[in-house]
Amino acid sequence: MFLSLKSADSNQTQFSIWVEYLCSNIQYQPAKQAIAGFPAMLTFADRVHSDEDPDPISVAAQFPQEIAKLLHFSGKDRDIRQFEHFLDQAEQLGYRHLLLLSGDKLKKHQDGKEQFTERTRYLESVNAVMAAKKRDKFSIGVAFNPFKYTEAESDAQYFKLHKKIQAGADFLITQLGFDLDKIKQTQTRLINDYPHFPLIACVMPLTFRRARYMLKHQVAGIVLPQHILKILEEEHLKDPVQAKKNVYERCALQILICKHLGYAGIHLSACHQPEEQQQLEQAIKKYQAFTLDDCKEHWNILWRAESESVFQPDVKPLANKVKMAQLIKYRTLDWMHRFFFDSPVAMGVGQFIFKPSFWNRSKANQILLSIEYISKHSLVGCESCGQCRLADTLYICPETCPKGLANGPCGGTTIDRCEFGDRECIHSIKARVAKVVGQTEILKTKLIPTVSIDKRNTSSWKNWYEAECKD
Ligand code: SF4
Repeated sequence: MFLSLKSADSNQTQFSIWVEYLCSNIQYQPAKQAIAGFPAMLTFADRVHSDEDPDPISVAAQFPQEIAKLLHFSGKDRDIRQFEHFLDQAEQLGYRHLLLLSGDKLKKHQDGKEQFTERTRYLESVNAVMAAKKRDKFSIGVAFNPFKYTEAESDAQYFKLHKKIQAGADFLITQLGFDLDKIKQTQTRLINDYPHFPLIACVMPLTFRRARYMLKHQVAGIVLPQHILKILEEEHLKDPVQAKKNVYERCALQILICKHLGYAGIHLSACHQPEEQQQLEQAIKKYQAFTLDDCKEHWNILWRAESESVFQPDVKPLANKVKMAQLIKYRTLDWMHRFFFDSPVAMGVGQFIFKPSFWNRSKANQILLSIEYISKHSLVGCESCGQCRLADTLYICPETCPKGLANGPCGGTTIDRCEFGDRECIHSIKARVAKVVGQTEILKTKLIPTVSIDKRNTSSWKNWYEAECKD
């Protein structure tokens, strides 16, 4: 069954609730088809609990066929061939709704439990969307994290979102978050370019236990300020019954606020048990007739929020500026790129090097590979990917991102810091440089293809020449 986000009779987007199931636990009760009058569908998260979780396709198969399902696919530790296999299976079994993510870091790499013996590769969401779109069978969702608090990390998220939409995304699902200003801002920033693009907000009945767990495990990209934790802890200690009631009331209010704002639906996490859904339904019914302003007022009362700043991160952003060295590097490498690759010089050099009589091709490749690595590794962090993307990434090498993402950031930054905690996110740097040198368009529009495994450890110069200048 194909469930459109539009209702059949009015062509209006139906507000729906998508109930999330983590695939690690498959002991579930029968699923409801509606919650508080809103149509409900099921979503199956991919490797959220552990790296070995059962795959969403096999878990989804255990639920009744007539309920619409959204399958997540996380690109972590996967390549395009595995994704094509997933698409084959999904297509064969009639699943039509996908959520394509690059994914957070593997669980085995969290807390330093396992050393990085070899580099983990990620299939980028942009590339996954491009591949899925070609089949013309799927309704494709992408993740988006609006809860970013520096100009550069926020810009980087939006630049990548443009690419995802251009690649063929049909809707987005936000990261879980509680800052209503950011939820509203997502709409206002997209309205001009994509006025009818459906937005889904991720919400959760946030208990003290869940908040503490997420903080302890530093769940990537989730902002949980001390104020939130303090309120939840106080309530929990004072009156656990009332605390639970407040948890569902807040969740209900957030759902209704998103509906008032014009969101197409809700991705509902941690609420798949019948008693949880019952409490949520009761709370939704209590506030269903409220206006947007009334809902916001009650939301602020329940959170004891005197201003929106209580939902923002406790760490204040640094005023990061583009460094002079970054600008000089950009301008120099850009000039060199134009000189060597966009001019007759490139053709001349290529013809000389690849002249069959000059030396054999495999020897030429080895020599070029070494020269390329030596000249570029110390300068930009080149890892001989065989498909140089520097001209499309403002000469900041994607290989210096721990996930190797070229098209834009994952959702895991914290005030420009990388999810891996050991560097500034390269996409924040890139976004900052792009604004100064007037190159933001390239970060919004240039879809960078994935690097095939057989190209790695070959010379990108040779590959470029063979592709561009052979004749
Ligand atoms: S550099 Fe940025 S995109 Fe890459 S893993 Fe770190 S936070 Fe994610």
